[in-house]
Amino acid sequence: MATFKDLLSQTKKQIKELTTDELAQRLAGAAKPVLVDVREPDEVEAGILPGALAIPRGFLELRIEDKVPDRAASIVLYCAGGNRSAFAAKSLAELGYTRVESLAGGYNRWHDQGRPTEKPLSLSAEQKERYRRHLVIPEVGEAGQQKLLNGKVLLMGAGGLGSPAALYLAAAGVGTLGMVDMDVVDLSNLQRQVLHGQEWLGKPKTESAVARLRSLNPDVKVIPFQERLTSENVERIVSQFDLVVDGGDNFPTRYLLNDACVLLDKPCVHGSIFRFDGQVTTFIPRVGPCYRCLYPQPPPPDMAPSCAEAGVLGVLPGVIGTLQAVEALKLLLGKGTTLAGRLLTYEALNTRFAELKLRRDPKCPVCADGVPFPGFIDYEQFCRVAA
Ligand SMILES: [Zn+2]
Repeated sequence: MATFKDLLSQTKKQIKELTTDELAQRLAGAAKPVLVDVREPDEVEAGILPGALAIPRGFLELRIEDKVPDRAASIVLYCAGGNRSAFAAKSLAELGYTRVESLAGGYNRWHDQGRPTEKPLSLSAEQKERYRRHLVIPEVGEAGQQKLLNGKVLLMGAGGLGSPAALYLAAAGVGTLGMVDMDVVDLSNLQRQVLHGQEWLGKPKTESAVARLRSLNPDVKVIPFQERLTSENVERIVSQFDLVVDGGDNFPTRYLLNDACVLLDKPCVHGSIFRFDGQVTTFIPRVGPCYRCLYPQPPPPDMAPSCAEAGVLGVLPGVIGTLQAVEALKLLLGKGTTLAGRLLTYEALNTRFAELKLRRDPKCPVCADGVPFPGFIDYEQFCRVAA
């Protein structure tokens, strides 16, 4: 009867092994092999080779055809020390894979030599359950969910637009949400600002938002900014995030935020509402227009009434803020087509969606090519002077 040692040495004669040096050279070249880590999930947690697929040895034959359908693909298998991957290589050869090799010395030798490794994408059992409906979508999956968990979105305003956007982004597992709002919850807010409840009347909206979002999803870190956005703090705040969802309701802040996003190269998902009408677009600096390309000058104050003056159907910000959340998720995932260069309008009274093409202004004072950033201005003054 053959011992384990006999079986191993016999197997190693039947397969091809490669050294860590050879693998490093191969990975630096143009035709990179497919790396497959056959260790158990608890071993993989500490680190894997960059870009490796983790398929535990016990599932290898079951899953390899799904993950690597091409039988002629160059595959390098590795385990901790090079024995399990040797047996695995033999098994793949029997399945008809023609270019399979096993890494001699395995992960441990690679790691001990100080070669690059990375933390694997891994969700906890609870996260796998919570995001199950995301994990089954090919455009999201575990890698996408990990991107969302690493994502940082700044919400400008915890009001009508910010409420649905924050709730859905938190539910989706966007890991960090910043909220800029200096107001307290007022009874007249509750007709549409679904983030807040009766018990928060008179208290800061940011505090109400932190409590609500934390109870919705403990994966989410909420950073409150109970302050007015100004030329002095805007860079410090916006620079901490990947993108901005603008649910602000005044023009000075909108221009300030636009200029900061162009300066810091951050996408800004813009929404606005008026009675039964809403609109949404996504500004991606230098890819599409910015807010100033569309509106070089602010409207005179009497032409731009606020929600308080003009009124708004309670559910309308729900529709627009939710569309903004969808844009933000696509930007974080890097999937689909955003509203960059398109303005989507929604007319609730007659149920009509329409789309307008938006173009960059080659003479835009902040985002035109080759134009240095002009610096922040006095936005209050700018919006009054235009009147
Ligand atoms: Zn512009």
